[in-house]
Amino acid sequence: MKRTALVTGGTRGIGAGISKALSRAGYSVAANYRSGDANAEKFQNETGIRVFSWDVSDYESCEKGVARVCEALGGPIDVLVNNAGVTRDCMLHKMSRENWTKVIETNLNSVFNMCRSVILSMREKNFGRIVNISSVNGLKGQLGQSNYSAAKAGIIGFTKALALESASKGITVNAIAPGYVSTDMTDAIREDVRENILKGIPVGRFGQVEEIADAVLFLADEKSSFITGTVLSINGGQYL
Ligand code: NDP
Repeated sequence: MKRTALVTGGTRGIGAGISKALSRAGYSVAANYRSGDANAEKFQNETGIRVFSWDVSDYESCEKGVARVCEALGGPIDVLVNNAGVTRDCMLHKMSRENWTKVIETNLNSVFNMCRSVILSMREKNFGRIVNISSVNGLKGQLGQSNYSAAKAGIIGFTKALALESASKGITVNAIAPGYVSTDMTDAIREDVRENILKGIPVGRFGQVEEIADAVLFLADEKSSFITGTVLSINGGQYL
């Protein structure tokens, strides 16, 4: 029986790379997204990976979304990758409450919403793999990103706590902290800021989505059962 995998924000950027890598490795994959219907339809047609739209910041939508995915894939979720995320960059003294809340709800509350929706079935099966996508900026902070850095740091605490709770149940919970990776999110960075960021990356380039996806594959593997509660930095050697 094929293992099942669900990737949030799985139709674009890093998430799309993760969905494709899991599919190529033989998993039965579902890719969640929020509102990019045209892109998701194109992704599904090109890859054969099934796509499902819901807002990961909404708890009930996650419960219903997971139920839909389980029905479509023919069983409970074995591998959950919490990848969906947004930025609303702004210095704190100018930040609206809306932009604070949006990032916390989408990037952090979503991880609770999704894990809560799959954890019981994983515990019943005595197997599960959860990989949460944090960020280098959750480890070191970044100006203009108090909302994003708080959410991404929160993911790390959550990961470690859930790893402890789940260790005796065959479920591993790990985080990946990518540095800058070429996607729509980083394409939106101003050219002069991008040049400055590049100077701080020892390997001299942004990462590729496949380099994050390969690490997810490794952590998702049954053989990685002794790795839990860890944070894997993939950032081209950025000093933290
Ligand atoms: P993109 O902006 O390219 O893609 C984000 C994905 O998340 C899209 O599929 C989007 O769906 C989905 N999404 C956003 N909000 C929601 C929501 N409320 N419900 C469901 N899906 C949602 O991002 P990246 O690929 O660059 O980033 C992926 C993850 O990696 C994020 O968590 C990000 O914080 C993290 N990261 C990225 C880095 C980078 O350099 N790119 C560095 C470090 C961490 P839709 O297509 O419908 O909009």
